[in-house]
Amino acid sequence: MPSLYEIPIENLRGIGEKRAKLFKKININSVGDLIRYYPRTYENWSDVTQISDLPNLSHNEAISIKAEVTSPVNNSILSGGRIMSKLNVSDETGAIELVFFNNRYISSMLKYGETYYFYGKVSKSRFFYQMISPEFAPEAKAVEINPVYNLTAGLTNRIVISAVKEALLLLPQKIKETLPDFVLSKYKLCSLDFAIRNIHFPSNMNVMESAQHRLAFEELLSLHLGMYILKNSVKEKTPVFMPFDYTSEFISTLPYTLTLAQKRAIADCINDMKNKTSPMNRLIQGDVGSGKTVVCAAVCYNCVKNGYQAAFMAPTEILAQQHFETFSKMFKDFDVKIEVLTGSMTAKEKKLSRLRIASGEADIIIGTHALISESTVFSNLGCAITDEQHRFGVDQRSKLQSKGRLPHVLVLSATPIPRTLGLIIYGDLDITCIDEMPPNRQEVKTVCIDSLKRDLAYEFIKQQLDMGRQCYIVCPLVEEGELDLKSANDYAAELMLGILKDYPIGILHGKMKASDKDKVMHDFSAGEISILVSTTVIEVGVDVKNATVIMIENAERFGLSQLHQLRGRVGRGDYKSYCILLSDNKSDQSVRRLSVMQRTTNGFEIADEDLHMRGVGDFFGNRQHGLPNLTIANLSDMDTVYQSRCAAADILKISPDLSDKSLSMLKSQTMRLFSDRISAMN
Ligand code: ADP
Ligand code: MG
Repeated sequence: MPSLYEIPIENLRGIGEKRAKLFKKININSVGDLIRYYPRTYENWSDVTQISDLPNLSHNEAISIKAEVTSPVNNSILSGGRIMSKLNVSDETGAIELVFFNNRYISSMLKYGETYYFYGKVSKSRFFYQMISPEFAPEAKAVEINPVYNLTAGLTNRIVISAVKEALLLLPQKIKETLPDFVLSKYKLCSLDFAIRNIHFPSNMNVMESAQHRLAFEELLSLHLGMYILKNSVKEKTPVFMPFDYTSEFISTLPYTLTLAQKRAIADCINDMKNKTSPMNRLIQGDVGSGKTVVCAAVCYNCVKNGYQAAFMAPTEILAQQHFETFSKMFKDFDVKIEVLTGSMTAKEKKLSRLRIASGEADIIIGTHALISESTVFSNLGCAITDEQHRFGVDQRSKLQSKGRLPHVLVLSATPIPRTLGLIIYGDLDITCIDEMPPNRQEVKTVCIDSLKRDLAYEFIKQQLDMGRQCYIVCPLVEEGELDLKSANDYAAELMLGILKDYPIGILHGKMKASDKDKVMHDFSAGEISILVSTTVIEVGVDVKNATVIMIENAERFGLSQLHQLRGRVGRGDYKSYCILLSDNKSDQSVRRLSVMQRTTNGFEIADEDLHMRGVGDFFGNRQHGLPNLTIANLSDMDTVYQSRCAAADILKISPDLSDKSLSMLKSQTMRLFSDRISAMN
C-alpha cells in the first residue's frame, strides 16, 4: 500500500478538481495531509446550557441548548424579498426564540413538539433571548462533539468534515502505528489509530484530550529527533585552524577579574575552535549584564592571533557603535585592528571599510546587518559572532557564516529561556550558560506606581540627577489610533515644562535616522544628556554605567522579558539603581505580572512566568526562531515537552540514526516536519 502522503486528495469521493484546489490552499495535498489536519476547536453540543442560565453567560459565546419546538414556524417577507422565519423553543427552564433567514425548508426541518440540539450564539433582544441561524440536529441523530477546522474561502466546515470522514473510510482497518510499543506503554499514550479517529470525531472530551496529548507528544518527539539529527549530521571539516590559545595574555590586561562563568564560557569556545574538526556552533546564554561582550572579545582575540578575522554582528546601530568603542578600548594596547561597518555610515566610509575588510587589514569587524550585505567580502573569516541572536532570523545568522569557509559560529542571547525549551529551540547548538554576575552588582530596586505618584517619581529622578547620575524614561511606541499614549517627542516636551526642565534631555525613537540616534546615544554615554526619553530602541545591550534610574510608562504593555531587558540598562556600575514601573492598569493580570518584576531580578524566573502567562508565540514575538511549524503541540506545555524529550533519548539510545525498522514511520514523520531543513538525508 502506498503511503497516505502519496494518495492525492482528489482520490476521495466528493472532491473534484475545484475542491482539491481549495484544499491545496490550506496545504492539504494528500490523504495523509488531510487526516493530519486537526480541528482548530470543537463545538461541544453535549455541554448543554439551560435556558434559565442564559443571563449568566459571557457575551458572544456559542453554546448549545436542547429544546422542544413549542410554536409553529412563522414566516415573513422582509424588504428586498428575504424570508425571515421565527419560532419558539423551550426546555424545562424557559423559552427562547430562533430566527432563520432565507431558509424556506425550516418549517419542514423543525417539527412542532420534537426536541433538537441547537448550537449558536445567543443575543438578547429587548425582551427575550434569541438565537440567530443556529445549527441544529434532532435529539436522536445529534453528533455531540463537532470538529471545527480552519478554513479558506469556498471551503466550508461541512466539506472538510465529510472529506475527513471519507478519508477515514479509505484507511486500513487500523492506522499503522508510528511510535514503538515501548514508548506507547512507557509514556501511556493511546495508539495512532485511536488518536486520529478521535481527534476528528471524538465521542467525548476525554478521548479527545487523550488523542490530542498523543499527537502533540508525537510531534514534539519528532521535533527533538529532528533537532538531534540536525546537530549531529555529519559535519564538514572546517579548514579554519586555530591551534593556539592566547586567552591569558588578553585577560591579564582587563581592569577586572573575569567571573568563573565567563572563564568557563571562553574555555568552551576555545576548546571548540582548537580541538574539533567541525566548526564551533555554540550559544552563550547569559542574563543582561552578565558580561558576554568581554567573552566575545577574548574569542575574537584568539581568532585574530591564530591568523583569522572575526566578525561581530549586533542588531542595532547603537549597539554596534557601542561594541566598537568597547573593543577599541580593550584592544588599544594590542596590535589588533578593529573595524566598524554600519548602514548609517556614508557611502564613502562604507567603501573604505569594506576595502579594509576585504584586504585583511581589518582584524575584528563589528557591525550591523551591513556585515551580511553582498558587497561585504571578508579576507579570511574565522569566527562569526551574533549578539542578541533573538533579534535576527536564522537565515541572517547563516548569511554571516557564509561570509567565510565554514567559520566557527558563536551566538549570544540575553533572553533566558527555560532549559527544556532551550534544548528544542537551540537544539542544533551547543549551549554555555553564564550563570553568574560580575561581583558587587547591586540588585535594581523595582517599584510599581500609578500616575498619581508620577510627580514623586520625577522628584526622585531629580535627586538622582543632582547626584550626577542619569536616567532613562521609556514610553511605548505610538501607533496610529493610540493617541492616549505619549510619544517620545510630546513626552519630552512635557518634561521640559516640569520640575526636570533644567536638565538636558535627549530623545530616541525608532523613526529617527540612524546617525541621529547614534549622536543622541553618544551624548548620553558621554554624560552630556541627563535624561534620555526613548521608545524601546534602548532595549538591547546598551551599557551606560552612570545611568541609575529607568522609568517605564505603560509598563503593562510590555512583556516581562522585555521589561527585564529594559531594567538591565541600569545597575551596570557601582551605583544603587532603580526601576520605576508606571501603570494605571489595575486588572488582576497586570498587577500580577508587574509584581513578578518586583519580586525577582532573575531572568530565568521572569522568562518562565512570561512563557506561562503569554505562551511561546508571544514570547518569541514574530521573529523567526527557525523551528518547524507545529500543528498541534504547544511548546509551553512543559510536561509534554519534557516527556517527549526523554522518549527521544530512549529512542536514540536504541538507534541513533533512526535506521531501526520499527522507527521507519517515525523517521519519515520527522523528515516531513523538517522537510525544508533536512534535505540531504534519507
Ligand atoms: P551583557 O552580558 O548584558 O552583554 P556586558 O558585556 O555589556 O553585558 O557587560 C556589562 C558590564 O559589566 C560592562 O560594563 C562590562 O564592562 C562589565 N563587566 C563584564 N565582566 C565583568 C567582570 N568580570 N567584572 C566586573 N565588570 C564586568
Ligand atoms: Mg550585550
